[in-house]
Amino acid sequence: MTVESPKEQFTFQAEISRLLHLLSESLYQNREITIRELVSNASDALDKLRHAALTDSAVEASDLTITIEPNADEKLLIIRDNGIGMTRDELVQNLGTIAHSGSLEFLQNLQKAENKDDVSLIGQFGVGFYSSFMLSERVEVRTRSWTEDTGWVWESTGDGAFTIGEPEEALPRGTEVRLHLKKDLTEFTDTSRLKFILKKYSTFVPHAIMVDGEHINDQPPIWVEPKSTVTDDQYQNFYEYLTHFPGQQALWHLHLTADSPFQFHSILYCPDSNLERMGFGHAEHGLHLCAKRILVQNDNRDLIPDYLRFLRGIVDSEDLPLNVSREALQDNTVFRKMQKVITKKVLDHLDSIAGDDAEKYAKFYGEFGSILREGIGSDFDHRDRLAKLLRFQSTNSTAEDGLASLAGYCERAGDDQKQVYFATGADMAAVLRDPNLEIFRERNLEVLVLTDPVDEYVLSTLGSFEDRDLVSIDSADLKLPGSESSDSDSDDDEKKETSDDDTDVPQGFDTVLQLIKEVLGDQVDDVRKSERLTESACCLVSAKGAQSTTMQKVLQVNMPDFEMSKMILEINPRATLISRLCEISVNDDNAGFVRTCGQQLYADAMIMAGLAPNGSEMADRVQNFMMELAQQRSSIAT
Ligand code: ADP
Repeated sequence: MTVESPKEQFTFQAEISRLLHLLSESLYQNREITIRELVSNASDALDKLRHAALTDSAVEASDLTITIEPNADEKLLIIRDNGIGMTRDELVQNLGTIAHSGSLEFLQNLQKAENKDDVSLIGQFGVGFYSSFMLSERVEVRTRSWTEDTGWVWESTGDGAFTIGEPEEALPRGTEVRLHLKKDLTEFTDTSRLKFILKKYSTFVPHAIMVDGEHINDQPPIWVEPKSTVTDDQYQNFYEYLTHFPGQQALWHLHLTADSPFQFHSILYCPDSNLERMGFGHAEHGLHLCAKRILVQNDNRDLIPDYLRFLRGIVDSEDLPLNVSREALQDNTVFRKMQKVITKKVLDHLDSIAGDDAEKYAKFYGEFGSILREGIGSDFDHRDRLAKLLRFQSTNSTAEDGLASLAGYCERAGDDQKQVYFATGADMAAVLRDPNLEIFRERNLEVLVLTDPVDEYVLSTLGSFEDRDLVSIDSADLKLPGSESSDSDSDDDEKKETSDDDTDVPQGFDTVLQLIKEVLGDQVDDVRKSERLTESACCLVSAKGAQSTTMQKVLQVNMPDFEMSKMILEINPRATLISRLCEISVNDDNAGFVRTCGQQLYADAMIMAGLAPNGSEMADRVQNFMMELAQQRSSIAT
């Protein structure tokens, strides 16, 4: 059989030895996956050869086949392809180090995972070739690269080292992986068992898989079939094939077919959980891109926008050129149009889920809303569609099960309400404590509650929805229904101060405002009468056009040079403390005291807005107040 020839010995990279150890120990139940992994490698090798043939006419790329050959007598299972093969250097590199991230990531995750038997992990990270050692006591790889005339034999028992022999003249192009099965695993030479496994995992492999002369995967791919003929099981199997995630269900899928102006078939799946949120980092997988059913790219990331990167699936078109680089593809007109059509269809589909099944949409939005909303800033063409898909918490807890849409909000708001109000804060409780919210509560006006600063960024980018401006409740641009909105077209509402409803403004209020303005100087943009407070004495609001305080705080953290814009201090003439200050302000002797109170009111308002006032000045002031009160108390015991 094998020619006796000197073999060079190599040691595996340390990680591989660790991986092999873990595999042999913990994933014994997942043996079937080895077959899938080796078939998948063979399929990749065939794809690569076909690509090579596109540019090199000397390469013969017909009859690309994966052959599975069991041999019960020798306890041997062979997986053979006539693909690209490997040179000696490639053998050392590819089957001696963990060069690709999949296995490495797998290794790291497996070490973290509590349940080391987790079936899903091995599939997810495609641990690949090394899974051979779960089945075998010895593995041989006989391979010849398409670029060379001689081949090589790689061999290992998976215990830390491998060997490569002398050049072999007689090897055919491609790779043959020979698994010398462990004693108790002879089931893997049983043809019907093998067929079962291959049908389960490899039905959608785009090359012929032959077992015992039978073509196992000869049914047409489901994406080119009419939707009505594809069964739930078929969709499920295809999803598992795409994600390598056995048993995992998609949240929804979308089967698209178009004939004009260009032809394509596509099946897209939305996973049921967001791995990015679970700490896996930015999703790097893409869609499978096929031209006339032949895989052109495994992970195309340009066909759908980044904000839909969580989708898995396939797009197959007769109108795409086969033999082009990624860059050229992006410039291809059909490709770009296809991009738009698919994006629009996905967004329409989401809209219909939102309409038909609020609970399912809420689940989707909970998982992927944070990715989807990125589109508001980046995809101008679909901004309106995306805006309809956004969801927020709301002070109207009964609204749409607590997840309010902008459209739902506008429906609930009266016609005379020209703005959509939102409040920002660390959490719902913090927002509910915000004095700015008092007037909304009193007048029963719904306010969207944004606890993630990104949501505020999204809304300020959006600016308006269905002709209503989106404004923060602490904004100077705030217009409440009924009151000032009717006569404020001239936009000089900053001047109105005490002029409108003088009846509830105590005498001396102008003096109080004046004194506070003097003492605060250019620390604030303005000091004015508040229309929005009902109980609290004061609050801070953003000046016209400025971002909300929450947003500014985020910017301040991220940009050291960022300066917060000056804010407006609003004083509530109806608050008991303020009316008392108005009364005593008639006496000029109290001017100094009112000024000091003004400074303290400003400090209080800052604290309530989550900002830090000057601590030592504030401590001095409060202690002086205490001193004054203490001095009024008698030291005589009664
Ligand atoms: P992965 O397939 O995820 O890259 P593997 O460990 O399964 O990881 O394989 C490592 C590398 O070995 C592959 O990337 C490929 O370059 C090479 N390889 C594996 N199987 C074959 C094969 N049948 N033909 C050619 N090259 C192969």
